[in-house]
Amino acid sequence: MAKTGNIKISSEHMMPIIKKWLYSDKDIFLREIVANASDAITKLQKLIDVGEAKAGDEPFKITVTADEKAGTLTVEDNGIGMSEEEVERYITQIAFSGAADFLEKYEKAGGDGIIGHFGLGFYSAYMVSDNIEIFTKSYSGAPAVHWESDGESQYTIEECGKETRGTRIVMHLAEEEKEFLKEFELRTLLRKYCSFMPYEIYLNPKGKDDKPVNTVDPLYLKQPKDCTDEEYKTFYRETFSDFNDPLFWIHLNMDYPFRLKGILYFPKVKKQVELERGQVKLYCNRVFIADNIKEVIPEFLMLLNGVIDCPDIPLNVSRSFLQNDKQVQKIAGHITKKVADKLEELYKNDREKYENSWNDLSTFVKFGCIKDDKFYEKVKDIVIFRDLDGKYRPIESFYGAEISEEDAKEGKEPAPVYYVSDENKQAQYIKMFKEAGLNAAVCDGYIDPHFISYLEYKNPKRVRFFRIDAEIDGALKEAPCENGGEIEKIFEKALEGKKVKVRAEKLKSGAVPAVVNVGEFMRRMSEMNSFYRMAGEEAEEITLIVNVSSPCVEALVSAGEEERDLIAKQIYFLALLSYRQLKPEEIGEFSAAQADIMQKYLEKR
Ligand code: ADP
Repeated sequence: MAKTGNIKISSEHMMPIIKKWLYSDKDIFLREIVANASDAITKLQKLIDVGEAKAGDEPFKITVTADEKAGTLTVEDNGIGMSEEEVERYITQIAFSGAADFLEKYEKAGGDGIIGHFGLGFYSAYMVSDNIEIFTKSYSGAPAVHWESDGESQYTIEECGKETRGTRIVMHLAEEEKEFLKEFELRTLLRKYCSFMPYEIYLNPKGKDDKPVNTVDPLYLKQPKDCTDEEYKTFYRETFSDFNDPLFWIHLNMDYPFRLKGILYFPKVKKQVELERGQVKLYCNRVFIADNIKEVIPEFLMLLNGVIDCPDIPLNVSRSFLQNDKQVQKIAGHITKKVADKLEELYKNDREKYENSWNDLSTFVKFGCIKDDKFYEKVKDIVIFRDLDGKYRPIESFYGAEISEEDAKEGKEPAPVYYVSDENKQAQYIKMFKEAGLNAAVCDGYIDPHFISYLEYKNPKRVRFFRIDAEIDGALKEAPCENGGEIEKIFEKALEGKKVKVRAEKLKSGAVPAVVNVGEFMRRMSEMNSFYRMAGEEAEEITLIVNVSSPCVEALVSAGEEERDLIAKQIYFLALLSYRQLKPEEIGEFSAAQADIMQKYLEKR
């Protein structure tokens, strides 16, 4: 005779609330039911290990079967099973009160506060089912039982004829949840949540050629010394569906003071323009929880691809709790440290590979520095910049000596570090720098302007960055210039009405007659402005540095007045051209003057 009973807690109101909150995440029910099946096998295995249960002939496995006609989804395991009392205790009481618990925590956490909606357990299957049946037979030999409930307030329980050990959960799906019977959908979900579970999972098994949907011994759980490069690459391709090989990887493996295993991969960057988001999947005992959990994994690490399995993270607590939890902070700190260690190791042991990978790595490293001071402290000596000769050098090697406390108080600044932000646009300046035997760092990455500011902020007495076209006279000035005043007058007259200051200097190289100079500070301000403001207005005031060392400028002094005007203007436009694009009206003026010069030149012959 079937017994009926009342479910103790008032569950009538629970499901609508859970359904509403977990609406977009209700597919976790499959994870919960399959994870329970997996746990049931582990429990049996443990009893076998201590000699309290006998192993059967069948290998351990879990099957997931969809019956479209009957509208049922069945998950079956050959694990420990349950006796009648156990069903009463674990399902009717624990599972239902577990759900009530979950609901309470969930309400406290304000809606979506619990990561991956962990902790709902068996009860979550009611999100998609009208009715659930359990057929189960305990390893102990107790009679098999059949339990059934619509998840509201009533259930029935009776003996049944199940012959094999283990549990079969039959979910009668609600009409609107029938999509969960589609094989494709189920396979996708099982791959997402159950890829690394420890027992083979079969979907709609047909015969002996069936292949499990999961990998029972995922690479990340092995000892790093037992893994080959090829295995790492294959695992990467299969887990992230990226057909490019990763640059390199970090295998995390620790047991103390917390358990943490995983692999972080550095992907090849596709384009430099923006930060590409990676995917760091968080697992708890091989069960997928969620992607990119920022409470656990430092934000900058999310540019990587990876798998992290950490059974010690308290997952059924609110996100804000996680954020402030010391243990979780330690885990995040540890991951960061490991990444820094690995980068350092590569830098020390395989500099060539490090330099070749730098283009892909640098955004990540720089972003990491800006986001996390501790990471910066660990990697600052291995941050490199390319110089004008194409050689990679540590940033420190570009810095000058640190200025003293007194000097700093008096407002003195450390020696400038020159940098290039665009090798094409700044080619003219680079040429002059090289001729003068000077060097500069190439900082042309998307993140470099921010990174430069960050370095200045971290080392106020040590480094001050100047773009190669800023204060160029400071870098290239050779000697005081004697006839400067006269030359300045020539240019001031020729450039009357233009927003430009003129200064004559004797530079170390005579290669160019003049260069445009925009103060670093001014330029950064205007870059910031244009970031926030609409385009159009030009905030920067430019200075034309006329180079007295140039033979052309020298010749200008003795030229006739009309020619002086014409050529001085042309020198200005040429300098402007290697600084920025000309505006439409400037192009007109420039072309006209150019034509004039050519005509005069031809007439003279
Ligand atoms: P949790 O798994 O977090 O304990 P659940 O609500 O998922 O909570 O399950 C409640 C209990 O029911 C489990 O702890 C377990 O004892 C029992 N149970 C659930 N599914 C199975 C199964 N397939 N085989 C054996 N016992 C199970």
